Amino acid sequence: MDPLPTSEDKLPAGAGATISVIDSASLSNLPLEPYFHCDLPRLQRVTVPAFSFVITNQRGRSVLFDLGLRKDWPKLPPTAVAEIHNDQLGIHCEQDVLDILEAHDFPIENVEAIVLSHHHFDHIGDPSRFPSSTALVVGPGVCEALMPGYPDQEISEILTSDYSGRSVREIDFTSTDLSILGLPALDYFGDGSLYLLSTPGHAVGHMAALVRTTSSPDSFVLLGGDACHHCGELRPSPGQPIPMSARSCITGFLNTHSNDGSQPFFKIQRDARYAAYCHNPDEAEQTILRLQRFDALDNVLIIFAHDASIKTVIDEFPATLNDWLIKGWGSSCRWRFLRDFEE
Ligand SMILES: [Zn+2]
Repeated sequence: MDPLPTSEDKLPAGAGATISVIDSASLSNLPLEPYFHCDLPRLQRVTVPAFSFVITNQRGRSVLFDLGLRKDWPKLPPTAVAEIHNDQLGIHCEQDVLDILEAHDFPIENVEAIVLSHHHFDHIGDPSRFPSSTALVVGPGVCEALMPGYPDQEISEILTSDYSGRSVREIDFTSTDLSILGLPALDYFGDGSLYLLSTPGHAVGHMAALVRTTSSPDSFVLLGGDACHHCGELRPSPGQPIPMSARSCITGFLNTHSNDGSQPFFKIQRDARYAAYCHNPDEAEQTILRLQRFDALDNVLIIFAHDASIKTVIDEFPATLNDWLIKGWGSSCRWRFLRDFEE
């Protein structure tokens, strides 16, 4: 897959949806080596947010994309609690996403679904606190791989209470012939405001979401989940080389890492010691190549679930992300991660 967009690459037309980002929690002391190799001391252990998003279409239908962490995280399945202890992660979560929505009088009963990029504990939150009318939407293969949950299956990474008593919809991308810039897609609301995208690799059935923030002219926010754990896995790319203005601050890094400024700084970790951190490295690499085609477009803002670099730029819930293009957040966010490389 060529990471450069072609003249045939067109994003579909459709209606807009409102979207807000919620940062309910942060993870500290997160090791990055299991995801990609990096020799910079300041990128060995990092503190990152765990974003979730609330999306509402023009007919008032709402979904959440990811739920971040749960405040009572010791109640996670033993496998997830062990992972937290083994990695010596710090978890800082005083409010669930539900608490934050309620504090702002958001009509919870309008949340028809929680869409999960994937099932990991820092994304699944606590769905059991939502009304039974709220469905759980997961990517291909998730039900077979993870259900039944704990305690019905000791080794499951999810809880039975995450899905019991509510409808679970597993997305089947083969049921649609829609593809956007090389990624199999599903028009969730049927109005072109929210597309679920198949972005496999990091975890079984990993999905991203493309949300239309404005129409005519079109702009989009792409919610990338854990397809990358640092923007240096995505950028620079042939379609999004480092601008000259940003290059001067990191000349030393570019020289010592033989990077000409047109290829990403980091590659998916292949060391067998970290095999448990990535479901399928080949697919994860292909997913990043496809995301680079979206990233090459100036009307698409990509936000990964743990992108600490944009936290101080964007406005959070109850504000919306919809005016990101007018506010210039695309240009101010895209290269902000380079601060991690400055001498
Ligand atoms: Zn994550």
